[in-house]
Parts: sequence; structure tokens; C-alpha cells
Amino acid sequence: MSKTDTNQKKIQAIRGMNDLLPEQSPLWQYFEGQVRALMGRYGYDEIRTPVVEQTALFKRSIGEVTDIVEKEMYTFDDRNGDSLTLRPEGTASCVRAAMEHGLLHNQTQRLWYQGPMFRHERPQKGRYRQFHQIGVETFGLEGPDIDAEVILLSARLWQQLGLDKHVTLELNSLGSMDARAAYRDLLVAYFERHAEVLDEDSKRRLGSNPMRILDSKNPAMAEVIEGAPKLMDHLDEASREHFERLCAMLDAAGIAYVINPRLVRGLDYYGRTVFEWTTTALGSQGTVCAGGRYDGLVEQLGGKPTPAVGFALGIERLILLLETLELVPAEARGALDVYLLPMDEAATGPALLLGERLREALPELRAQLHCGGGSFKSRMKKADKSGARLALLLGEDELAEGSVTLKFLREEREQQRLPRAALVDTLTSLLNGESLA
Ligand code: ATP
Ligand code: MG
Repeated sequence: MSKTDTNQKKIQAIRGMNDLLPEQSPLWQYFEGQVRALMGRYGYDEIRTPVVEQTALFKRSIGEVTDIVEKEMYTFDDRNGDSLTLRPEGTASCVRAAMEHGLLHNQTQRLWYQGPMFRHERPQKGRYRQFHQIGVETFGLEGPDIDAEVILLSARLWQQLGLDKHVTLELNSLGSMDARAAYRDLLVAYFERHAEVLDEDSKRRLGSNPMRILDSKNPAMAEVIEGAPKLMDHLDEASREHFERLCAMLDAAGIAYVINPRLVRGLDYYGRTVFEWTTTALGSQGTVCAGGRYDGLVEQLGGKPTPAVGFALGIERLILLLETLELVPAEARGALDVYLLPMDEAATGPALLLGERLREALPELRAQLHCGGGSFKSRMKKADKSGARLALLLGEDELAEGSVTLKFLREEREQQRLPRAALVDTLTSLLNGESLA
């Protein structure tokens, strides 16, 4: 390496974009596995779309006067001069793809996706510039039954993860476009009467997107927001009925919720049902999952009117929540079952083959082979460091008599020597019978 090279600043990851390190990946895999299984149980199919789209897609769908489009998007011109954007969320891409491939024509869809999203926000705990979402989008279903289903699906996920006691469902209805337009006028008139308390952002939004003012977290405005007219009191008849039926279904299913008239969501495309799952365990990054109905979006993007409802959850926040609440199960720690330990050079080949035989007989077994030689002491140290529950030792004696020594690395338990032919049975009962609490 030349001198100038070594003087250069080390290249590091981009701020707010995280590496997922090997010690964390078992928990992510566990979480993703739970989600994948859940989606199958409800009959939802996965869709994967590119992480880059034309900028216009997000401007048109999310709305020009939203935090995301105003200040959070990673937008750049590619070599052809086309304006492209790293997707800040999944719904727009999903709708684009479904339209493009004719998935919405005379049919219903229940889709899910997962992947990285990009927003240029101030990085902090639970808020990153590349983060990961899992989302659900359904199309072609207009009744409250599907709203209830996607909420029940998310509730089942919390239950599977042991989180059900730690999250709260907040619910609201944004009504129809017309009802919202009428309400908007009321809201503007109200805020104009209180213009002196509005901050700069809110003053700007008064003309463009006054409902977003309700979403403001500025404590100086809390009181005036509290006193604002409530959209819930101005719903159109059809939306009110839709909402009541949804609430009745949730009641019948035993799902508790809080009606929050301030819940308006940050994106333009929502109407009628909106909901969030929140927790108090993560400070101000308390929303772990958010969604709602967006019946107008497909048409807004040039398709036929198509009712739609969905949600997205933030994987990082849920992982943080599982860790904070110490709800990470043993299976999500990715521990090895077995460390295969040849004691000398002569035992290396047989240990390698023993490993293969075990993997054939026990597909669930997590076994790692000691490679790289070393003294007896250093081999034992590596076995211990591997985190495995058991070490299988093969030395001169074991080779001579066709046996193997089984050593417990995490328990006060006598080691035992057994015929290699009995190993599969012994491991099976050890691994199924007793778990290490
Ligand atoms: P917030 O109010 O926290 O900014 P949001 O309303 O912008 O959230 P959505 O666009 O609804 O969030 O995204 C759904 C979920 O994705 C959020 O509830 C959250 O769990 C997660 N999420 C959103 N932005 C980020 C981010 N920058 N970093 C990590 N997770 C995020
Ligand atoms: Mg946000």
C-alpha cells in the first residue's frame, strides 16, 4: 500500500445505515421466519419489487406536502438524467407493480413484502436512514372485514412474539374524500383563529395539508391541537358505518383498541380506517406498525378505482423491542448444538466424515467442525467459545474403538464415551428431550 493510501481516511458505512452483524442475524432470521409463516397461514403471497423507482411514483402517491417527499427522500439523477429515488416505503412500489402486471384487474390480492427502505432522517435509536419494513397490502376488498383481518394478522404476530401485552392498537377513521374536504375547511378556520401559536411548519401546512398539523409533536401546540374539531365528529355516513362495523369485529375478536382522533398518518393516500400499534418501551420511536385504507391510490396512479388496505411494520423497532423486553427466545440466539473436535491430525478426516453423517441423519442439528489444528488446550478453548452445548471428541482411543466422547460444555454433567453407532440416538434424545433454559 502506498503512503497516500494509508493516510486516507478509513471508508466507513453511511451514517444511519447499519451492518447486520453475525451475532444479530439469528434474531432477524427468527423474526422474519415468524412473519413468513404467519403470512402463509393467512394466505398472503410475497411480492418483491426493486429498491429504486422513478421519483414521480413517490411524489404522486405519498404526496408533495409530506415529510417524506419534502425532506426525506434519497433522490438522484441516473446516467440518463432520469430522476430516481430509493424507495422510502413499500406501498407505492407495490401498487405500481400490481398495476403494471395486471394483478388488480377483476381480482383481489393479498400481498406482503419485506425489504430495506431509505429516508434521510436524523439517525437515532429506532430511526435510521436505511431501515427495514415488512408490509401487507390487500386490493379489491372494500368492506371492514379485510380491515379487521389485517389488524388481526398483526395482532397474531405480537402474540407469537410474546409482545401482545406490550403494544396498543390506536384506531381512527379519516372518512371519505368529501367529508375530509369539508372537515379541512373547518380545521383551517379553527387554526387561523389560533395562528399565533402555530410554528413555521404548521403555518406552511395550513394552506397545503392542514390535517398534518394534528400530527405535530410540538408541545407548544398541544393545547390548540387538543381543542381542534375532530374528524370523527364529521364523518360521512358510509365511513361511520364502516368504522362501526370494524370496531364490532375487533370487539368480537377480543382485540382491544383506543380510538385516537389525532391519528392522521403522515401520507396523503389514506382514507377511512387508519391504525397504529404503539409501545411505550421505545421512547419517542414508539410506533412499531402503521397502516390503513387507501382506496384512492390506485386511481391516483392511473388505474381503475380499487379499494385497498395495508400496513407496514419497522423491523428494527420490533427487534429493539424484543431485546428491551428480554423476549428473545433460545432459538433466536442461533446457538450451535455440537462442536466436532478432532484431537489430532489423524482424527481430522474421520471427524469431518462424522459431521457429514450426523447432518444426514439429523437435518435440524447445528454442528460446527473444528478446523485449523492447534494444541489440545487451544482446541478446547475454541470448543467452549463456539457456544455449542456439546463437544464431540475424536482422539486416538476413540478412533481405535469406533467410539466418540461426548462432553457437555454448558452443564455440570459427566462426559461419556459411547459407540459411534449410538450417537444419532443419543443426540436425538438429548436435543429433543432437554432444553437448556
Ligand atoms: P414515525 O412517525 O416514527 O416517523 P412514520 O409514520 O414515518 O413513523 P411509516 O411511514 O408509517 O412511519 O412506516 C411504518 C413503520 O416503519 C413505522 O411505524 C416504524 O416502525 C418504521 N419506520 C419508519 N421510519 C423509520 C426509520 N427512519 N427508521 C426505522 N424505522 C422506521
Ligand atoms: Mg417518519
